[in-house]
Amino acid sequence: MTQPNSQAVRALVLTQNDDKSVRADLRGDLTVSDLPEGNVLVRVEASSLNYKDGMAVAGRPGIVRKFPMVPGIDLAGTVLESQDERYRPGDAVLLTGWGVGEGHWGGFASHARVQGDWLTHRPEGMDAKKAMAIGTAGFTAMLAVMALEEYGLTPDSGDVVVTGAAGGVGSVAVALLAAAGWRVVASTGRAEEEEYLKSLGAAELIGRDVLSGLKRPLEKERFAAGIDSVGSTTLAGLLACLKRGGAAAACGLAGGSDLPTTVLPFILRGATLLGIDSVMCPPERRERAWERLNRELPAVLLSSGVSEYPLSEVQELAPRILAGQVRGRTVIVP
Ligand code: NDP
Repeated sequence: MTQPNSQAVRALVLTQNDDKSVRADLRGDLTVSDLPEGNVLVRVEASSLNYKDGMAVAGRPGIVRKFPMVPGIDLAGTVLESQDERYRPGDAVLLTGWGVGEGHWGGFASHARVQGDWLTHRPEGMDAKKAMAIGTAGFTAMLAVMALEEYGLTPDSGDVVVTGAAGGVGSVAVALLAAAGWRVVASTGRAEEEEYLKSLGAAELIGRDVLSGLKRPLEKERFAAGIDSVGSTTLAGLLACLKRGGAAAACGLAGGSDLPTTVLPFILRGATLLGIDSVMCPPERRERAWERLNRELPAVLLSSGVSEYPLSEVQELAPRILAGQVRGRTVIVP
Protein backbone atom coordinates (compact mmCIF):
# COMPACT_ATOMS: atom_id res chain seq x y z
CA MET A 1 0.00 0.00 0.00
CA THR A 2 1.25 3.52 -0.79
CA GLN A 3 2.45 5.38 2.31
CA PRO A 4 0.69 8.73 2.67
CA ASN A 5 3.93 10.74 2.55
CA SER A 6 4.90 9.36 -0.88
CA GLN A 7 1.55 10.24 -2.48
CA ALA A 8 2.03 12.36 -5.58
CA VAL A 9 1.06 16.04 -5.35
CA ARG A 10 0.22 18.32 -8.26
CA ALA A 11 0.72 21.99 -7.54
CA LEU A 12 1.23 25.38 -9.11
CA VAL A 13 4.55 26.54 -7.68
CA LEU A 14 5.76 30.15 -7.71
CA THR A 15 9.50 30.82 -7.59
CA GLN A 16 11.37 34.10 -7.70
CA ASN A 17 14.06 34.80 -10.30
CA ASP A 18 17.25 36.73 -9.55
CA ASP A 19 15.68 39.88 -11.02
CA LYS A 20 12.74 39.47 -8.55
CA SER A 21 10.32 38.50 -11.33
CA VAL A 22 8.06 35.57 -10.45
CA ARG A 23 7.75 32.34 -12.38
CA ALA A 24 4.81 29.92 -12.11
CA ASP A 25 5.20 26.21 -12.93
CA LEU A 26 2.58 23.49 -12.79
CA ARG A 27 4.49 20.62 -11.17
CA GLY A 28 3.63 16.96 -10.91
CA ASP A 29 6.87 15.74 -9.34
CA LEU A 30 6.12 16.66 -5.71
CA THR A 31 4.91 14.33 -2.95
CA VAL A 32 3.07 14.89 0.31
CA SER A 33 6.43 14.93 2.14
CA ASP A 34 7.30 18.15 0.26
CA LEU A 35 4.34 19.98 1.80
CA PRO A 36 5.02 22.48 4.61
CA GLU A 37 4.39 21.66 8.26
CA GLY A 38 0.88 21.53 9.66
CA ASN A 39 -1.28 19.22 11.73
CA VAL A 40 -3.97 18.42 9.15
CA LEU A 41 -3.50 16.97 5.65
CA VAL A 42 -6.33 17.82 3.24
CA ARG A 43 -7.08 16.38 -0.19
CA VAL A 44 -8.04 19.51 -2.12
CA GLU A 45 -11.17 19.03 -4.23
CA ALA A 46 -11.56 22.65 -5.30
CA SER A 47 -9.99 26.06 -4.90
CA SER A 48 -10.95 29.44 -6.30
CA LEU A 49 -9.45 32.45 -8.01
CA ASN A 50 -9.57 35.71 -6.10
CA TYR A 51 -8.13 39.10 -7.01
CA LYS A 52 -5.31 38.45 -4.51
CA ASP A 53 -4.47 35.16 -6.26
CA GLY A 54 -4.27 37.06 -9.54
CA MET A 55 -1.76 39.42 -7.92
CA ALA A 56 0.30 36.52 -6.52
CA VAL A 57 0.45 34.54 -9.78
CA ALA A 58 1.20 37.67 -11.83
CA GLY A 59 4.13 38.40 -9.51
CA ARG A 60 2.74 41.66 -8.13
CA PRO A 61 4.66 42.65 -4.99
CA GLY A 62 3.16 42.52 -1.51
CA ILE A 63 1.23 39.24 -1.57
CA VAL A 64 3.67 36.29 -1.52
CA ARG A 65 5.92 36.53 1.52
CA LYS A 66 8.34 33.68 0.73
CA PHE A 67 9.33 31.43 -2.17
CA PRO A 68 8.79 28.77 -3.35
CA MET A 69 5.05 29.26 -2.75
CA VAL A 70 1.91 27.45 -3.79
CA PRO A 71 -0.67 30.24 -4.20
CA GLY A 72 -4.42 29.88 -3.67
CA ILE A 73 -5.93 31.67 -0.65
CA ASP A 74 -8.95 29.32 -0.64
CA LEU A 75 -9.37 25.56 -0.57
CA ALA A 76 -12.06 22.99 0.10
CA GLY A 77 -11.68 19.26 0.40
CA THR A 78 -11.57 16.25 2.69
CA VAL A 79 -9.30 15.55 5.66
CA LEU A 80 -6.88 12.68 4.98
CA GLU A 81 -4.84 12.78 8.22
CA SER A 82 -5.18 14.86 11.36
CA GLN A 83 -3.32 15.44 14.60
CA ASP A 84 -5.97 17.99 15.59
CA GLU A 85 -8.75 16.39 17.64
CA ARG A 86 -11.40 18.63 16.04
CA TYR A 87 -10.81 17.04 12.62
CA ARG A 88 -10.93 13.40 11.57
CA PRO A 89 -10.16 11.67 8.25
CA GLY A 90 -13.18 12.04 5.99
CA ASP A 91 -14.30 15.40 7.42
CA ALA A 92 -15.48 17.95 4.84
CA VAL A 93 -13.57 21.19 5.36
CA LEU A 94 -12.87 24.57 3.82
CA LEU A 95 -10.21 27.18 4.39
CA THR A 96 -10.03 30.86 3.48
CA GLY A 97 -7.43 33.40 4.53
CA TRP A 98 -5.05 33.14 7.50
CA GLY A 99 -2.18 33.95 5.11
CA VAL A 100 -2.52 30.63 3.27
CA GLY A 101 -1.37 31.05 -0.34
CA GLU A 102 0.73 34.04 0.83
CA GLY A 103 3.04 32.77 3.60
CA HIS A 104 2.01 29.07 3.71
CA TRP A 105 1.38 26.78 0.70
CA GLY A 106 -2.22 27.17 -0.46
CA GLY A 107 -5.04 25.74 -2.50
CA PHE A 108 -3.70 25.59 -6.07
CA ALA A 109 -2.64 21.96 -5.47
CA SER A 110 -4.06 18.48 -5.08
CA HIS A 111 -3.12 18.38 -1.37
CA ALA A 112 -2.48 20.92 1.39
CA ARG A 113 -1.01 20.50 4.85
CA VAL A 114 -2.36 23.22 7.14
CA GLN A 115 -3.09 24.07 10.77
CA GLY A 116 -6.41 22.83 12.14
CA ASP A 117 -6.95 26.33 13.57
CA TRP A 118 -7.36 27.65 10.04
CA LEU A 119 -10.01 25.14 8.95
CA THR A 120 -13.79 25.45 9.04
CA HIS A 121 -16.15 22.47 8.86
CA ARG A 122 -18.18 22.81 5.68
CA PRO A 123 -21.87 23.38 6.49
CA GLU A 124 -24.20 20.41 5.97
CA GLY A 125 -24.90 19.89 2.27
CA MET A 126 -22.22 22.29 0.99
CA ASP A 127 -19.94 20.42 -1.40
CA ALA A 128 -16.39 21.56 -2.14
CA LYS A 129 -17.29 23.27 -5.42
CA LYS A 130 -20.11 25.26 -3.84
CA ALA A 131 -17.79 26.31 -1.02
CA MET A 132 -15.27 27.53 -3.57
CA ALA A 133 -17.91 29.19 -5.75
CA ILE A 134 -18.35 31.35 -2.65
CA GLY A 135 -14.70 31.39 -1.50
CA THR A 136 -12.95 34.36 0.08
CA ALA A 137 -14.81 36.84 -2.14
CA GLY A 138 -18.27 35.53 -1.20
CA PHE A 139 -17.30 35.15 2.44
CA THR A 140 -16.12 38.77 2.42
CA ALA A 141 -19.41 39.89 0.88
CA MET A 142 -21.28 38.13 3.71
CA LEU A 143 -19.03 39.76 6.34
CA ALA A 144 -19.86 43.12 4.77
CA VAL A 145 -23.60 42.40 4.85
CA MET A 146 -23.32 41.35 8.51
CA ALA A 147 -21.40 44.55 9.32
CA LEU A 148 -24.13 46.73 7.78
CA GLU A 149 -26.84 44.80 9.63
CA GLU A 150 -24.97 44.96 12.96
CA TYR A 151 -24.64 48.70 12.43
CA GLY A 152 -28.43 48.78 12.39
CA LEU A 153 -29.22 49.27 8.71
CA THR A 154 -32.12 47.41 7.09
CA PRO A 155 -33.77 47.40 3.64
CA ASP A 156 -36.12 50.08 5.07
CA SER A 157 -33.15 52.41 5.56
CA GLY A 158 -32.95 53.08 1.79
CA ASP A 159 -30.98 51.94 -1.26
CA VAL A 160 -27.68 50.10 -1.01
CA VAL A 161 -24.96 50.54 -3.65
CA VAL A 162 -22.47 47.78 -4.50
CA THR A 163 -19.30 48.79 -6.38
CA GLY A 164 -17.26 46.45 -8.57
CA ALA A 165 -20.64 44.74 -8.86
CA ALA A 166 -19.79 42.26 -11.62
CA GLY A 167 -16.70 40.98 -9.78
CA GLY A 168 -16.50 38.25 -7.13
CA VAL A 169 -17.21 40.23 -3.94
CA GLY A 170 -19.65 42.47 -5.81
CA SER A 171 -21.71 39.69 -7.42
CA VAL A 172 -22.21 37.84 -4.15
CA ALA A 173 -23.01 41.09 -2.33
CA VAL A 174 -25.66 42.00 -4.93
CA ALA A 175 -27.26 38.55 -4.69
CA LEU A 176 -27.25 38.44 -0.86
CA LEU A 177 -28.60 41.96 -0.42
CA ALA A 178 -31.34 41.55 -3.03
CA ALA A 179 -32.41 38.24 -1.45
CA ALA A 180 -32.62 40.00 1.92
CA GLY A 181 -35.00 42.61 0.48
CA TRP A 182 -32.67 45.52 -0.19
CA ARG A 183 -33.09 47.71 -3.29
CA VAL A 184 -29.64 47.23 -4.81
CA VAL A 185 -27.90 49.73 -7.08
CA ALA A 186 -25.03 48.02 -8.92
CA SER A 187 -22.05 50.19 -9.87
CA THR A 188 -20.12 48.60 -12.73
CA GLY A 189 -17.74 49.44 -15.54
CA ARG A 190 -19.30 46.69 -17.67
CA ALA A 191 -22.63 47.80 -19.11
CA GLU A 192 -22.74 44.46 -20.98
CA GLU A 193 -23.29 42.74 -17.62
CA GLU A 194 -26.66 44.45 -17.10
CA GLU A 195 -28.68 41.30 -17.69
CA TYR A 196 -26.43 39.29 -15.38
CA LEU A 197 -26.56 41.85 -12.57
CA LYS A 198 -30.33 42.19 -12.86
CA SER A 199 -30.66 38.40 -12.74
CA LEU A 200 -28.81 38.54 -9.40
CA GLY A 201 -31.38 41.05 -8.15
CA ALA A 202 -29.94 44.49 -8.93
CA ALA A 203 -32.78 47.02 -9.34
CA GLU A 204 -30.65 49.64 -11.12
CA LEU A 205 -27.21 49.96 -12.67
CA ILE A 206 -24.92 52.98 -12.56
CA GLY A 207 -21.66 53.37 -14.48
CA ARG A 208 -18.40 53.01 -12.61
CA ASP A 209 -17.56 56.64 -13.47
CA VAL A 210 -20.62 58.03 -11.70
CA LEU A 211 -19.19 57.58 -8.20
CA SER A 212 -15.50 57.91 -9.11
CA GLY A 213 -16.19 61.13 -11.03
CA LEU A 214 -17.77 62.99 -8.10
CA LYS A 215 -15.57 65.83 -6.94
CA ARG A 216 -17.36 67.45 -3.97
CA PRO A 217 -16.92 66.11 -0.41
CA LEU A 218 -20.71 66.08 0.04
CA GLU A 219 -23.14 65.26 -2.76
CA LYS A 220 -26.90 64.74 -2.85
CA GLU A 221 -27.87 62.12 -0.24
CA ARG A 222 -28.59 58.98 -2.23
CA PHE A 223 -27.63 55.71 -0.49
CA ALA A 224 -28.30 54.38 3.00
CA ALA A 225 -25.51 51.85 2.67
CA GLY A 226 -22.71 50.65 0.43
CA ILE A 227 -20.43 47.68 -0.11
CA ASP A 228 -17.23 48.70 -1.87
CA SER A 229 -14.55 46.50 -3.43
CA VAL A 230 -12.93 49.29 -5.46
CA GLY A 231 -11.53 51.88 -3.00
CA SER A 232 -9.96 55.19 -4.13
CA THR A 233 -12.21 57.80 -5.81
CA THR A 234 -15.09 55.28 -5.99
CA LEU A 235 -15.27 54.87 -2.20
CA ALA A 236 -14.77 58.62 -1.77
CA GLY A 237 -17.74 59.25 -4.09
CA LEU A 238 -19.82 56.66 -2.25
CA LEU A 239 -19.11 58.33 1.11
CA ALA A 240 -20.12 61.70 -0.35
CA CYS A 241 -23.51 60.24 -1.37
CA LEU A 242 -24.34 58.47 1.91
CA LYS A 243 -27.53 59.57 3.58
CA ARG A 244 -27.42 60.88 7.13
CA GLY A 245 -26.45 58.00 9.46
CA GLY A 246 -25.50 55.74 6.55
CA ALA A 247 -22.56 53.35 6.42
CA ALA A 248 -20.21 51.89 3.84
CA ALA A 249 -18.29 48.62 4.20
CA ALA A 250 -14.80 48.91 2.68
CA CYS A 251 -13.67 45.53 1.30
CA GLY A 252 -11.17 46.11 -1.46
CA LEU A 253 -8.83 48.11 -3.64
CA ALA A 254 -9.49 47.01 -7.23
CA GLY A 255 -9.38 50.69 -8.25
CA GLY A 256 -6.63 51.78 -5.86
CA SER A 257 -5.70 51.74 -2.19
CA ASP A 258 -5.90 55.50 -1.70
CA LEU A 259 -8.96 57.25 -0.29
CA PRO A 260 -9.15 60.87 -1.42
CA THR A 261 -11.95 62.06 0.84
CA THR A 262 -12.53 64.59 3.65
CA VAL A 263 -13.96 64.26 7.14
CA LEU A 264 -17.16 66.04 6.06
CA PRO A 265 -19.33 62.93 5.40
CA PHE A 266 -18.41 61.73 8.91
CA ILE A 267 -18.84 64.96 10.86
CA LEU A 268 -21.72 66.56 8.94
CA ARG A 269 -23.79 63.46 8.09
CA GLY A 270 -22.69 60.96 10.73
CA ALA A 271 -21.50 58.59 8.02
CA THR A 272 -19.59 55.50 9.11
CA LEU A 273 -16.87 53.52 7.35
CA LEU A 274 -16.83 49.85 8.33
CA GLY A 275 -13.62 47.91 7.63
CA ILE A 276 -13.90 44.31 6.44
CA ASP A 277 -10.98 41.90 6.97
CA SER A 278 -11.76 38.34 5.93
CA VAL A 279 -8.21 37.02 6.43
CA MET A 280 -8.01 37.12 10.23
CA CYS A 281 -11.76 36.89 10.90
CA PRO A 282 -12.25 34.91 14.15
CA PRO A 283 -13.50 31.28 13.89
CA GLU A 284 -16.91 31.80 15.53
CA ARG A 285 -17.80 34.64 13.14
CA ARG A 286 -16.52 32.56 10.21
CA GLU A 287 -18.85 29.71 11.08
CA ARG A 288 -21.80 32.06 11.37
CA ALA A 289 -21.01 33.64 8.00
CA TRP A 290 -20.64 30.25 6.26
CA GLU A 291 -23.90 28.94 7.76
CA ARG A 292 -25.67 32.03 6.47
CA LEU A 293 -24.06 31.72 3.02
CA ASN A 294 -25.24 28.12 2.85
CA ARG A 295 -28.81 29.15 3.67
CA GLU A 296 -29.15 32.56 2.05
CA LEU A 297 -27.09 32.66 -1.15
CA PRO A 298 -29.59 32.52 -4.02
CA ALA A 299 -29.16 29.64 -6.45
CA VAL A 300 -28.97 32.11 -9.36
CA LEU A 301 -25.48 33.19 -8.26
CA LEU A 302 -24.28 29.60 -8.39
CA SER A 303 -25.90 28.95 -11.78
CA SER A 304 -24.96 32.13 -13.65
CA GLY A 305 -22.14 33.72 -11.67
CA VAL A 306 -19.66 30.85 -11.44
CA SER A 307 -17.15 29.46 -13.96
CA GLU A 308 -14.96 26.40 -13.49
CA TYR A 309 -11.40 25.95 -14.79
CA PRO A 310 -8.61 23.38 -14.30
CA LEU A 311 -5.46 24.27 -12.37
CA SER A 312 -3.55 24.40 -15.66
CA GLU A 313 -5.43 27.58 -16.67
CA VAL A 314 -4.71 29.67 -13.57
CA GLN A 315 -1.72 31.39 -15.20
CA GLU A 316 -3.92 32.62 -18.07
CA LEU A 317 -6.72 33.69 -15.72
CA ALA A 318 -4.52 35.75 -13.38
CA PRO A 319 -4.05 38.80 -15.66
CA ARG A 320 -7.74 38.68 -16.58
CA ILE A 321 -8.97 39.05 -12.99
CA LEU A 322 -6.52 41.94 -12.47
CA ALA A 323 -7.93 43.64 -15.57
CA GLY A 324 -11.48 43.33 -14.21
CA GLN A 325 -12.48 40.93 -16.99
CA VAL A 326 -13.64 38.01 -14.85
CA ARG A 327 -17.36 37.82 -14.14
CA GLY A 328 -18.49 36.62 -10.72
CA ARG A 329 -16.60 33.74 -9.18
CA THR A 330 -14.09 31.26 -10.59
CA VAL A 331 -13.72 27.73 -9.20
CA ILE A 332 -10.38 25.99 -9.80
CA VAL A 333 -10.29 22.19 -9.91
CA PRO A 334 -6.89 20.56 -9.21
P1 NDP B 1 -12.76 40.88 -8.93
O1 NDP B 1 -11.70 41.23 -9.91
O2 NDP B 1 -13.59 39.67 -9.14
O3 NDP B 1 -13.75 42.13 -8.78
C1 NDP B 1 -13.29 43.46 -8.74
C2 NDP B 1 -14.23 44.32 -9.56
O4 NDP B 1 -13.89 45.68 -9.36
C3 NDP B 1 -14.13 44.08 -11.06
O5 NDP B 1 -14.89 43.00 -11.51
C4 NDP B 1 -14.66 45.39 -11.59
O6 NDP B 1 -16.08 45.37 -11.48
C5 NDP B 1 -14.13 46.41 -10.56
N1 NDP B 1 -12.87 47.01 -11.00
C6 NDP B 1 -11.75 46.38 -11.43
N2 NDP B 1 -10.79 47.25 -11.73
C7 NDP B 1 -11.30 48.47 -11.50
C8 NDP B 1 -10.79 49.80 -11.62
N3 NDP B 1 -9.54 50.03 -12.05
N4 NDP B 1 -11.60 50.83 -11.27
C9 NDP B 1 -12.86 50.61 -10.83
N5 NDP B 1 -13.40 49.38 -10.71
C10 NDP B 1 -12.61 48.32 -11.02
O7 NDP B 1 -12.04 40.80 -7.50
P2 NDP B 1 -12.62 40.25 -6.10
O8 NDP B 1 -14.08 40.46 -6.07
O9 NDP B 1 -12.02 38.93 -5.83
O10 NDP B 1 -11.94 41.29 -5.09
C11 NDP B 1 -12.35 42.64 -5.12
C12 NDP B 1 -11.46 43.46 -4.18
O11 NDP B 1 -11.71 43.08 -2.84
C13 NDP B 1 -9.97 43.28 -4.42
O12 NDP B 1 -9.31 44.50 -4.24
C14 NDP B 1 -9.58 42.30 -3.34
O13 NDP B 1 -8.23 42.39 -3.01
C15 NDP B 1 -10.49 42.73 -2.21
N6 NDP B 1 -10.78 41.69 -1.24
C16 NDP B 1 -10.64 41.99 0.08
C17 NDP B 1 -10.95 41.10 1.04
C18 NDP B 1 -10.91 41.49 2.46
O14 NDP B 1 -10.73 40.63 3.33
N7 NDP B 1 -11.06 42.75 2.76
C19 NDP B 1 -11.30 39.72 0.69
C20 NDP B 1 -11.57 39.52 -0.73
C21 NDP B 1 -11.27 40.49 -1.67
P3 NDP B 1 -17.04 46.00 -12.63
O15 NDP B 1 -16.54 45.43 -13.91
O16 NDP B 1 -18.40 45.56 -12.23
O17 NDP B 1 -16.85 47.50 -12.55
